[in-house]
Amino acid sequence: MKFISVAIDGPVGAGKSTAARECARRLGFVYCDTGALYRAVGVFCVREGVDLSEPKQVAGCLDRIKVEISLVDGIQHVFLNGEDVSEEIRLPQMSMAASAVSAVPEVRKALLGIQRDIAEKNNVVMDGRDIGTVVLPNADVKIFLTAKPEIRAKRRYDELAKKGVETTFDEVLNDLNERDYNDSHRAEAPLKMAEDAALADTSELDFEQSVELICGIVRERRDVL
Ligand code: C5P
Repeated sequence: MKFISVAIDGPVGAGKSTAARECARRLGFVYCDTGALYRAVGVFCVREGVDLSEPKQVAGCLDRIKVEISLVDGIQHVFLNGEDVSEEIRLPQMSMAASAVSAVPEVRKALLGIQRDIAEKNNVVMDGRDIGTVVLPNADVKIFLTAKPEIRAKRRYDELAKKGVETTFDEVLNDLNERDYNDSHRAEAPLKMAEDAALADTSELDFEQSVELICGIVRERRDVL
């Protein structure tokens, strides 16, 4: 059976995960947040005190890391060596750790199979940075989701504040700009729009409008498949 895959890429805070998750629910597809995988590797490295600026040290940890994702009540959970780290991966320091480990080619290679495996077995909406370009280059639908940096930072700040994480808007904006820079300038699988992706800018859209925009692109493209 051929499954349908929807690849959604874009910079930090474009609303990928929230909108993609809801879009997957409406379509009856599985949702896969690939950033969670990189975050789990980041958690391991932070716990072990690995120097994140040393790619060899990061790569050297991989044989002690087993990352798995599974759906619990329809929500994606990520497991690091059997432990559910779904909460811990969301801490702000894990965002930077994920960004650092994601630039290491061995890490990207190690996580590739998990992502492709999900798309081989399910209708999926998968979000990340390189889904349409590297992970699923033959995805049925590709969307590059973006928004202005200040708007993305405000969304991310509100999200963290709601969770009780102490931070400031400027800190969030700096973190976002730094991660975007790292993600789009790394040698391996940099963040970039796939040639055949549809560009979706959510700067002026609220959540419902963003979901509708994505679902609309998916429906439109599926009709011509
Ligand atoms: O999407 P999220 O912000 O959770 O991703 C955390 C980090 O993981 C990103 O900043 C990026 O460096 C990395 N990432 C990646 N490729 C993906 C998904 C995430 O490099 N497909």
